[in-house]
Amino acid sequence: MAVAENRIVDVAESSGKTTPKTARKDDVKILVVDDTEGGHDLLEVLLFQIGYKNLVKAYAADDALEQLSRQHEAGEPIGLILLDILMPVVDGVQTCLMIRADERFNEVPILMVTANTDVKKLKDAFEAGAMDYLEKPISKTELDARIGSALRLKKELDRRKELLAQLQKANKKLELLSSKDSLTEIANRRTFNWFLEKEWRRSIRKNHPVALIMIDIDFFKLYNDTYGHQKGDSCLKEVAAIISKAAKRPGDLVARYGGEEFVIILAETDLETAKSIAENIREEIERTSMFHEKSSISNCVTLSLGVAAMTAARGATPDKLVEAADSALYAAKREGRNRVCVFTE
Ligand code: GH3
Ligand code: MG
Ligand code: MG
Repeated sequence: MAVAENRIVDVAESSGKTTPKTARKDDVKILVVDDTEGGHDLLEVLLFQIGYKNLVKAYAADDALEQLSRQHEAGEPIGLILLDILMPVVDGVQTCLMIRADERFNEVPILMVTANTDVKKLKDAFEAGAMDYLEKPISKTELDARIGSALRLKKELDRRKELLAQLQKANKKLELLSSKDSLTEIANRRTFNWFLEKEWRRSIRKNHPVALIMIDIDFFKLYNDTYGHQKGDSCLKEVAAIISKAAKRPGDLVARYGGEEFVIILAETDLETAKSIAENIREEIERTSMFHEKSSISNCVTLSLGVAAMTAARGATPDKLVEAADSALYAAKREGRNRVCVFTE
């Protein structure tokens, strides 16, 4: 008898693209599920001959699930399942569904073993999550080739999943490092904090006031609920563009504060000037007439705005200005929305 090569050759490895990494067949634990002893004996002989010696037996669905759990808990998880399609009580297709329903095992490759080329059954098996099938009588070469290809596919899927997770992590980091809000393309909260600190320090040095306008879209949850999240996103972009147009001096910064809230920092600006800029923005949004049929105060999108201005004092933090603008915004909401309120001590 020829000695089986006891390694699974990688596709990339065989094309010479990577340093060869040998996956040993002994490392792969295979669960064989068959209701007959004869079926087990046959497969066991073939698997041994091609080099897979780490085998676990099960005779029915519940038995298979118990073995999967037991091996998983022992830290030696099953790497592949050979599953007989024709079994009494619970057949292979049902068993496959039961295995896939457990999230611990929904990615273990399953090869169906069938004497039955009934297309309907095979279709069901693939729909239930089988990766491939083997037809009885099983040829040794075919068994080796199909197991090898299933394991390579699984490895590739794992690799892609890992890459995707890395990519998502990197994207999160980039977003944190970036200065702009990705949806509206105006400054983000991080830039706002930095700019406010800077203007606050300048206000201390120059004894000039710095103003802040806090803006919140009225009944925006209802807007999303009525027109959908995508329309909601478009509305946020439009509002951001309108606000940006209204505050364009070099000392101005328009930022997305979070969700449907925006903020404007106006350097060297007093309360009266900031208030009139806020009023212009409110009117401009009204003129744009973005239809909002569920708003109880208008038939289009409106804004509530809170304005505060102060000359920074040594020892005080810019939080004081943010809190003041926020409390003016709260007053605008309380007094009926679609209005500008200013903070007065
Ligand atoms: P109020 O007039 O009191 O401000 O009511 P509101 O509904 O505007 O306020 P609320 O805070 O209840 O809801 C804010 C909504 O903004 C809820 C949230 O789904 C939505 N929102 C936040 N960020 C986004 C976003 O990036 N895109 C979209 N489409 N919606 C967002
Ligand atoms: Mg809000
Ligand atoms: Mg709102």
